[in-house]
Amino acid sequence: MTPVLAVRHAVLAYPGGVRALDDVSLTVDEGDFVGVVGPSGSGKSSLLNIMGTLDRPTAGTVELSGHDVTTLSDRRLSALRSRQLGFVFQQFHLSDGLSAAENVATGLLYVGVPRRRRRPLALEALAQVGLAHRVDHRPTELSGGERQRVAIARALVNNPAVVLADEPTGALDTATGQAILELFTTLHRAGATIVIITHDRDIAARLPRRIEILDGRVTADTRIGARR
Ligand code: ADP
Ligand code: MG
Repeated sequence: MTPVLAVRHAVLAYPGGVRALDDVSLTVDEGDFVGVVGPSGSGKSSLLNIMGTLDRPTAGTVELSGHDVTTLSDRRLSALRSRQLGFVFQQFHLSDGLSAAENVATGLLYVGVPRRRRRPLALEALAQVGLAHRVDHRPTELSGGERQRVAIARALVNNPAVVLADEPTGALDTATGQAILELFTTLHRAGATIVIITHDRDIAARLPRRIEILDGRVTADTRIGARR
């Protein structure tokens, strides 16, 4: 089976000589629910940026559904990214001037979904994350947990091949973070392929697959239980 996402021998060197990633290889299969765990500065965000095609590796390749994307033009890469990937960040990255539904609909802007279809799809995604009652609220009128649910709905609305989440519970209190983790678990059961980047070993321990990273290298890749 072709992995949905593959990183092969990736090196990421920042100007100044820091090797944030040093010969990293990993694959994500359809239906995976992976935690990438490592301490601060270990290269987790660098890895997410490479996996998410937001940054190009200095060496090595990134493949989406079997196609090497590291050689694509910026324009083709961003088109592919908006079709195939959904992103969730620690700080939500919502637009304060837009309602929840409008924020989610921005996930459909670059993939050719006609305007009249965007709101219904956004409402569907918001219902999926338990926010059917908040669709016309602005981010400033929502709690942190609700904001992250909006961001998750935006990541999902386009039915991406993989959802990439960088410290998605990092800005939330423990109970709210647990609820967000449960939401990811529910979405995974419903068929989503999800990668969660976290420094939190307790979170990583609850996921069926754990990839450990230290000093820019993968040090372990463990699957718990049967694959779906
Ligand atoms: P993590 O997300 O695990 O905290 P990062 O991927 O952000 O780790 O960083 C990995 C390493 O790369 C760190 O040593 C960090 O200081 C360095 N780094 C990250 N971003 C940059 C950058 N834009 N320029 C230079 N060095 C960077
Ligand atoms: Mg980080």
